[in-house]
Amino acid sequence: MDDTSTLIETALQMTQKSYAPYSNFHVGAAVLAASGKIYGGANVENASYGGTMCAERSAIFQAVNAGERRILAVAVAGGPKGVVTDYCAPCGLCRQVMREFGDPKTMKVYIAKSPTDYREYTLEQLLPESFGPESLELRAAAEIEKPSALYI
Ligand SMILES: [Zn+2]
Repeated sequence: MDDTSTLIETALQMTQKSYAPYSNFHVGAAVLAASGKIYGGANVENASYGGTMCAERSAIFQAVNAGERRILAVAVAGGPKGVVTDYCAPCGLCRQVMREFGDPKTMKVYIAKSPTDYREYTLEQLLPESFGPESLELRAAAEIEKPSALYI
């Protein structure tokens, strides 16, 4: 099995870990970190709906909490009661969190129905013209180089 198949298979398995008593929409995700390790996550709902966490962010936070800082690829799969019959795209919040830990031009996002039936995107395709960590660094660097720029 290649890396992509393994990643998608992990995302599909993670749908079984989902806690989704309100929507019954079970989602699983898996991320491939730069270390080569794969981390899984599932959506976790809450009676106070705003406390709900998506599968993709769960997987990314697992990776970050394990010390990872760069993510190369993300796979996501989900469906009603964990039966995956259609492609399940990441929400906007998850796309933004992916942006924090990956290069939008090279990070792959697989939206999968099975290890052989998936759509492949770069993060840039899913989140064009994005705001990321370097946006803040550039601003900070500009302010350091030209401290009076704001007063001109
Ligand atoms: Zn999400």
